[in-house]
Amino acid sequence: MTATRVLVLNSGSSSVKYQLLDMRDSSRLALGLVERIGEETSRLKHTPLVGNGGENGGGNGGESRERTGPIADHEAALKAVAEELAKDGLGLDSPELAAIGHRVVHGGRHFTEPTIIDERVLAEIERLIPVAPLHNPANLTGIRTAQALRPDLPQVAVFDTAFHTTMPESAARYAIDVTTADEHRIRRYGFHGTSHAYVSRATARLLGRDPSEVNVIVLHLGNGASASAVRAGRCVDTSMGLTPLEGLVMGTRSGDLDPAVIFHLARVGGMSMDEIDTLLNKKSGLIGLCGDNDMREIRRRVEEGDERARLAFDIYIHRLRKYIGAYYAVLGRVDAVAFTAGVGENAAPVREAAVADLEGLGLAVDAERNSVRSDEPRLVSPEGARVAVAVVPTDEELEIATQTYALVGTGNGSAQAHA
Ligand code: ADP
Repeated sequence: MTATRVLVLNSGSSSVKYQLLDMRDSSRLALGLVERIGEETSRLKHTPLVGNGGENGGGNGGESRERTGPIADHEAALKAVAEELAKDGLGLDSPELAAIGHRVVHGGRHFTEPTIIDERVLAEIERLIPVAPLHNPANLTGIRTAQALRPDLPQVAVFDTAFHTTMPESAARYAIDVTTADEHRIRRYGFHGTSHAYVSRATARLLGRDPSEVNVIVLHLGNGASASAVRAGRCVDTSMGLTPLEGLVMGTRSGDLDPAVIFHLARVGGMSMDEIDTLLNKKSGLIGLCGDNDMREIRRRVEEGDERARLAFDIYIHRLRKYIGAYYAVLGRVDAVAFTAGVGENAAPVREAAVADLEGLGLAVDAERNSVRSDEPRLVSPEGARVAVAVVPTDEELEIATQTYALVGTGNGSAQAHA
């Protein structure tokens, strides 16, 4: 029996998201989420998608099962996931499982490709903890737990930073003292790379062109948000930096601000570094501006004439337009602007406002096309527009599974850490 299944794991500090895919046709067999690991009120939600109808339901497929009650740690979480999968005949002991693909947030400068995990790779992910204190420890725990469960199986790390390692030094370096920057590995790494890679390629496909022929601005607008400038399939700039805090206005993060705001809050405001960290990462952005971080709610309030929600929306859009303009200049020629993730895929008013009055740059949306709701990649620019404006649903799990399977399937999976 050939092994064609890939389990994708995205391990956060208190959560694990997972999907099991069959790479013969990239179909999803099951997906789920374990939340609040380590608390009394942990919850596992598991959705099998097999049964007669595959992803679209049928048989037992599509009916979710929930478990609540304490799940102590990641090991217990993964064991619970394995039990749920086994109930659907999809157990982790199956010979059909080819590999486990892990989302790893920070791969530093040197992990430019998905990489088979060995001790050297684990050590490098660990070495990067100072630049990714929230994410890399959780990713490591997920990997170690999965290794313990299936020590014989290839485990692959797919890094959020990898797609951005092609950025030139002129975009990746901050203009600070070079020795200090290098000593502390301070540079712009960028994140959401798996999504930017997937969406830029899918946009080229939508245009019927090869990725090497097109320049794309990708706007990944979820709760976290980032923009990237992709020239001929390679990332040349992105809005997140040393951490995901830089760049666009996000659900709870401020994005760009004068670094002196931090000194001011510490010296004049008497706040501790941890308090400022929490303020800028968790209590800023849309939620800080108007008390809501869900764009649906913000739009509802805007429609009702709520001034705070209007200002939050305007600040969000202003920043987004600045990045579109900046990346236009970085790329010189733009073939497409692609909107993706929760806000980008669903919020027509955001897309409309982002390119309003930019006909001079070749950018416009067609009101009717922009109002269509669909899960498919689609154009929302008018017929014959100089620059295509597209909505391209992202699929990070599929991209991780594809990269993992390609590495395992072709047997060239030597570890590639050169750090
Ligand atoms: P993340 O993966 O960063 O948590 P997502 O890409 O799932 O985020 O995006 C979540 C966000 O998408 C929500 O916070 C909400 O603002 C926005 N969103 C989801 N659905 C809609 C919708 N129908 N209209 C407008 N915004 C939406």
